[in-house]
Order: sequence, then C-alpha cells, then structure tokens
Amino acid sequence: MHACKLLQEQGKSFICLEARSRVGGRVYSQKLANGNHIELGAQWLAESGQTRFASLVKEYKYKPLVNFQDGLTVFLRDNQKQLLEDGVFPFSSLGELDAYRVGRRIQQLTKKIGSTKPWHFPSLDQLSIYDWIQKTSQHEESAEYWLNIIESALCVDPKLLSALECFQSMSTVGGVEKLEGADRYYFAEGIQSIFERIANSLGNKLVLNSPVISIEHSENQVIVQTNQSQYQCRKLILALPPQLIGKMFINPALPENYSSALSTLQTGKVVKMIGIYQKPWWREDNLSGTIISPDSDIDFVIDSSHPNSPAGILVALVGGTRAESINPLNTIAKQELFESFVKTAFGRSEKIEEFYSHDWISDPYSLGAYRSSRGIGEWVKSQNIFSRSFGSIHFAGTETASSWRGYIEGALQSAERAVKRVMKDI
Ligand SMILES: Cc1cc2nc3c(=O)[nH]c(=O)nc-3n(C[C@H](O)[C@H](O)[C@H](O)COP(=O)(O)OP(=O)(O)OC[C@H]3O[C@@H](n4cnc5c(N)ncnc54)[C@H](O)[C@@H]3O)c2cc1C
Repeated sequence: MHACKLLQEQGKSFICLEARSRVGGRVYSQKLANGNHIELGAQWLAESGQTRFASLVKEYKYKPLVNFQDGLTVFLRDNQKQLLEDGVFPFSSLGELDAYRVGRRIQQLTKKIGSTKPWHFPSLDQLSIYDWIQKTSQHEESAEYWLNIIESALCVDPKLLSALECFQSMSTVGGVEKLEGADRYYFAEGIQSIFERIANSLGNKLVLNSPVISIEHSENQVIVQTNQSQYQCRKLILALPPQLIGKMFINPALPENYSSALSTLQTGKVVKMIGIYQKPWWREDNLSGTIISPDSDIDFVIDSSHPNSPAGILVALVGGTRAESINPLNTIAKQELFESFVKTAFGRSEKIEEFYSHDWISDPYSLGAYRSSRGIGEWVKSQNIFSRSFGSIHFAGTETASSWRGYIEGALQSAERAVKRVMKDI
C-alpha cells in the first residue's frame, strides 16, 4: 500500500493486485462494539527510530496510546510467582552481571556487522545463535534470558538461526537495546484503517481477491496472471514475504541462490491471543497486567486496554517453538489456555467477554509471522538476494528491508527503495 501511495503521489500509472479481500496483510485490526480496535497482527510503533511509521500515523492524525504499566509485573517460573516492582527480569547478582556482559557482546557485534554487508562475517553465519549464546554466556539465567528475547523477537527456534542473521537483524533496528522500546505506542483507531484509507484513494487501481499465480518477465515487459485475469506492465514490484514468492511460477526463474535461500528460509511462528473483559480487574490488585514467563506455554502478556473505554484488554504473545505447539489448538482451546494462564499468574480471574486470535502460521497469504528469517549459512551463500532486482522485477516487503526488518517500518522503507528503483528505470 505504501508503494502505491508513493506511485500515486508521483502521478504514475499502476495497478495493485491483492490476494485477500482486504488490504493490510500482517496488519489486521478488528473493530469492537465500542468503536475502538484491537490488533490481530501488528500493533506497536516503537518508542524511537521508526520514522516512516511515525510520520504515517501523524499524517492521518492517529493518537498514540501507551501500554498501561502502573503496578506490579508478575514473573512466573516453575509455576512459582514473583511480583516485580520495576518489571525487570529477576536475576541473581551473578546472572545479572553475565546477562549484562552478553548484552554488551551482542551490542558490539551488532554494531560491527551492520545491516548492509553481513556476509563479511562467515563464521557467525555457520554458528546457530543458540550455540553462540551457550558458548558466550557463563550463567544459565543469562542464557535463558537472551534466548527468550531472541526467540520472541524473531519467532524462530534459536537453533535454526545463525548468529549472523540474528545480529544483522538487530542492527537493522539500531541495536539490541532498541528492542525494549519496540512495543511502545498503539492506536485505538486500528493501524489497518490507515492502509484502508490509502486503498480508498486508489479507486479501481486496486484489485482485491486477486492472488498472483504466475509471472512471465523480460527486460521491459511483465505479464502477470492472477486467478481471473492477466495484466501487462513494464515493471513489477513484488511486496510479499519470500515464502509466498516461492509459491509462484516465475519465468525465467529467479536465480539459483534465490531458491537456495528459500529452501532454508525459517518462517516466523507467532500466536497472538487477545482477551477482552468488562474491566481491567487486575488493576484492583495493583497488578499492571504484564506477565513474563520464560518457561510457560505463554511467555508474555500485556495490558492494552483503551483509556477511553471501561473494558479491560489483555494481549498475549507467543513466539517460536511454543507458538508452533499452541497454534494447532482450536479457538476454544486457545481461550482455555489463555484464561488458565492468566488465572495462575494473577491468582484469580474474571469472566472473559470476547476472545480473538488469528492463525498466521497457516494463513495462505502470510504463511508465518512476524517475519521470515534466513537459514544457517544463507547470508554468505545468497548475500542480499531478497532485496536485489531481477530484470523488471523489484522486491519490497519487510523481509527485504535494511531498516527495522520484520516491522511495519521495514515494509515502508522497502517500498520506498523499490519505488525509487522503478522510477529510475522508467
Ligand atoms: C501477530 C503479529 C504481531 C506483529 N506486531 C508488530 C508490531 O507490533 N509492530 C510492527 O511494526 N510490526 C509487527 N508485526 C510485523 C508486521 O505486521 C509486518 O512486518 C508488516 O506488516 C509486513 O508488511 P509487508 O507489506 O512486508 O507484508 P504483508 O503485510 O504480509 O503484505 C503482503 C501482502 O501481499 C498479499 N499477497 C500475498 N500473496 C499474494 C499473491 N500471490 N498475490 C497478490 N497478493 C498477495 C497479502 O495478502 C498481503 O496483503 C506483527 C505481525 C504479526 C502477524
């Protein structure tokens, strides 16, 4: 949508083909009876650094809300509960020292590797981030802490990702320290409505329910076949996750190393569950609503209630291997898990009014989320394959971004790059 907005602003002739009956992709808002929205997909704008996303919400005059944080955080491990005043992970003093040391090492490497040419660090591409953490940390609390952060942020089993993929990814967000402020602001208006407003401005240049099936391309012509129609154009921007590009028939085929990168691609595994209550009842017990649990089925819960509404909203996020095991549960079973977890953490519970979750892992037009990542050894083999152009085909989408890869900001940045390249060509 952002690429379309930019092309429209420059008065270019284009058509946008969207597979779903809605726009937004991994941004998917749901309107509640009181007019507010919850987010089944992307929710937060970071505290700083996401300049494009920040100007987009400013342009549409959306008012940022901040997660409720007053009160105590519940920390749950081995079914033992600890109440934290500052919300900081309850390390032993040795564990804390070691976590700090490992964090410094991650910071240094992230800075050294940078976001643009990570393939200059081949040994880190052969080592899984799991093995790197085990080798680098000297205390099990520190290893547990960092592995949890990495698995939650990248939504992939750390044994399947190279240390290089992990550090390069962190460098696109400006360093590991930026991850902490990544879930800062959210919007009662629902982020998807921004993309719906852009869609409305496109008129008949947007064709919904049109999954692209095949692409024939040459230097100056592209023929795109959807389930119903054929389109001809001079240049094509493919703005989808790489795993979906791999499902299309493309002739001539994309280079060999594109297929190699696809064959080892790790698609993100995430489950987001949202419980809506009559009121934020946990606040009566001086609880903030935040739950952190490194060893339960659910690892993170946060209070995302809207200040202008009496309802209480809890959002649970599960990433990586845990998401893989929870995802096959049906909605009723997911709700039971969610309610029982909240009850264990808060010591009591109240009746849930509504419960939402979306299956991103098997959604045919996402096949995973938040984002997909390169497999072990793939940076060295395939370098910047996902963001390179091939003849008339240009690639966008957050997986191709050099800034905030995996986030909305990355999707916006990649759209700007792709549009710039197309403009240069035509
Ligand atoms: C649960 C969850 C929580 C998240 N939280 C955050 C967050 O808090 N902050 C943040 O910044 N990011 C978050 N993200 C990540 C963010 O949503 C993505 O990084 C971003 O939306 C990716 O945008 P994109 O345009 O690259 O891809 P997509 O949003 O996946 O868009 C691709 C589009 O292509 C369409 N498509 C697919 N196949 C075809 C085809 N064959 N033909 C035509 N069209 C096709 C899809 O329908 C879709 O509209 C979250 C994601 C999820 C799922």
